[in-house]
Amino acid sequence: MTDRVIPLADHRYAATVPAIPTGALPANGLLSDRLGRPLRDLRISVTDRCNFRCGYCMPKEVFDKNYQFLPHASLLSFEELARVAKVFVAHGVHKIRLTGGEPLLRKNLEVLVGMLSALSTPEGEALDLTLTTNGSVLAKKAQALKDAGLQRVTVSLDALDDAIFRRMNDADFPVADVLGGIEAAERVGLGPIKVNMVVKRGINDQEIVAMARHFKGTPIVLRFIEFMDVGATNGWRMDEVMPSAEVVRRIDAVFPVEAIEPNCTGETAERWRYRDGGGEIGVISSVTQAFCRDCNRARLSTEGKLFLCLFATHGHDLRALLRGDYSDEQIAAAIGHIWAGRDDRYSELRSAMKADAGSGERRVEMHYIGG
Ligand code: SAM
Ligand code: SF4
Ligand code: SF4
Repeated sequence: MTDRVIPLADHRYAATVPAIPTGALPANGLLSDRLGRPLRDLRISVTDRCNFRCGYCMPKEVFDKNYQFLPHASLLSFEELARVAKVFVAHGVHKIRLTGGEPLLRKNLEVLVGMLSALSTPEGEALDLTLTTNGSVLAKKAQALKDAGLQRVTVSLDALDDAIFRRMNDADFPVADVLGGIEAAERVGLGPIKVNMVVKRGINDQEIVAMARHFKGTPIVLRFIEFMDVGATNGWRMDEVMPSAEVVRRIDAVFPVEAIEPNCTGETAERWRYRDGGGEIGVISSVTQAFCRDCNRARLSTEGKLFLCLFATHGHDLRALLRGDYSDEQIAAAIGHIWAGRDDRYSELRSAMKADAGSGERRVEMHYIGG
């Protein structure tokens, strides 16, 4: 069986229309890839658009008024998303994260949340349904999302200082509105809330301790993310990466912390707790410490391409199947075949490669497949 690479009308990245294997076993949640990793976590990018222009993700110079975002017809509809999500859940996915772009810019997103929250795992358990947002319209949307069945949110926030925050989002967006979004999420019960801060040395690293102080003593878990070399447009440089170990050292100097055990296998964040009982923080060391061994995440792009790794150069065009004459069983068989062949472990191999992933191929952009 060979996969075909076909030209697509609006293709962003090389995509392969998946082959449909015959005689595949029905999805039973026992799928594993070539490195023995199960499929547990699905991240769905519901839009490639965003109202921020964070330099590490959608730099203004590239994503300007001439940038062609995907036309609406290219996006998977809510019905298509719910259908494919159901197939992933049958394969063992327990957790679905909606992301983007800015997911809350997708019109009526709460309708999709309602459709996804109706799914349950083969064991009859509710899905862990969550969303990552820049928080800009969260205050307005929090109640509707909660009512639709969203369980919790992760909010990205790179600084508390208004001037630094406006520079980070490069859209002159005030920090007060994001803080208002976090408060609204707390009020309606979209917790436990996580806050993600991407740290760029020399740009916002002076905010590390201020952020820790702000969230210490609250149920909100602040997580520091190393600036990653995703995509090809963010001008990534190793000297702008602040290793998590340094972040922890800086916090420990002011608020002593100690390491704690991970919550579950495949968790990306390393957990630390304040010795005085003030709660916990996390660090995500995607650059300095590979965590591919337990990586159980699949990503679905805005136009329905399945990516097996954040750093993948090729997707698998599930939209072609969803819009073709295929049954759910056939789509499940195709996804099972793709996952069974997965051997991605980019972060682990990074140190042996050049910054360009070795192949010279164009890596997928973060706003397109989501974080
Ligand atoms: N717009 C939403 C937001 O910002 O939360 C969701 C999409 S965004 C792509 C998801 C996450 O990826 C955010 O927490 C963002 O900070 C993170 N991210 C984007 N580019 C990154 C990079 N180059 N390195 C590390 N994290 C990055
Ligand atoms: Fe937008 Fe999120 Fe990317 Fe920032 S990180 S540009 S908020 S998609
Ligand atoms: Fe998973 Fe790829 Fe990240 Fe490794 S580099 S943890 S395989 S997404």
